[in-house]
Amino acid sequence: MTGGCGFVGSHLVDALVAAGDTVTILDDLSTGKAENVKTPLDTARARFVHGSVLDTSLVDRLVDEADAVYHLAAAVGVSHIVRDPIRSALTNVQGTENVLAAAFRRRVPTLLTSSSEVYGKSTAAPFREDGERVLGPTWIHRWSYSTAKAMDEHLAFAYADEGLPVVVVRYFNAYGPRLDERGYGSVVARFIGQAFAGEPITVHGRGSQTRCFTYVDDTVRGTVLALNTPEARGKAFNIGADTEISIADLAVLVKDVAGSSSEIRNVTYESYYGKGFEDTPRRVPDTRRAREVLGFTAETPLREGLRSTVEWCRANYVRKDVAAG
Ligand code: UDP
Repeated sequence: MTGGCGFVGSHLVDALVAAGDTVTILDDLSTGKAENVKTPLDTARARFVHGSVLDTSLVDRLVDEADAVYHLAAAVGVSHIVRDPIRSALTNVQGTENVLAAAFRRRVPTLLTSSSEVYGKSTAAPFREDGERVLGPTWIHRWSYSTAKAMDEHLAFAYADEGLPVVVVRYFNAYGPRLDERGYGSVVARFIGQAFAGEPITVHGRGSQTRCFTYVDDTVRGTVLALNTPEARGKAFNIGADTEISIADLAVLVKDVAGSSSEIRNVTYESYYGKGFEDTPRRVPDTRRAREVLGFTAETPLREGLRSTVEWCRANYVRKDVAAG
């Protein structure tokens, strides 16, 4: 597995190890953390290799030993991409090509993690896997993540045509324990951190933009089902909950679940992302294909998932003194 020390990756490692698999994790620890996989590494059913998906000979060697590949390594999070667009685009395209090329040589079953970001600012919600993609201009760096993930998908489907058993999953705003407190790609992590610190919870714009937050255990279950369903090969699947919530309402909910007295403050997009940012106004998955082909539905209610997330963050975020108080 690439990116196994990351937020979703580490939960996937846990699930695979619990199911009796042995997992080799390749991660460059750019945003992932070794401590996320401490427990599985202790069981000796998981092995950690510190390295990059840009290292082709390392990728070739590890893929040669594997009987399935989960590819999660990526520069993730819109705010991260906006701040480091060159490295992000290279990692997300070249890294994936390296993994797919290595898997193709032995036709190793492979899962590529993609993103709901590929739909861009399409207004055709709920987004069907075969729906249109709508992106803004190329000098808006936000869209480079969508473009890179779409290029990854193009590569995956091109390899599928040549005989690689590959499946693509598009994640919708996964959240849960181990969310990085620096908030990479996660408004949930940012709001929880702000709620703990008693700082204003910063809602961008009017907060009418919506998302479907998906508890990470559901995300992982959908991922494992996708790799293990032969009929899924050569296709893309939305892996997301269908409960839609506005960011303004999310702020109220997080504040409530965290028991915080923070003020909820509307701030400009520009204050966070800099000039020239474009947001996705509404992001909702069409969940039919995942249900029919994979037998997958996200089950965790948002309030319940947030409760577990807040509990984990309370115990693990650095500002423990504030969190505990
Ligand atoms: N957002 C916000 N306040 C923050 C961080 C994010 O209002 O402090 C908004 C962001 O502008 C977007 C939504 O929350 O509309 C989800 O952002 P996130 O970075 O979690 O992921 P995205 O869905 O944009 O990939």
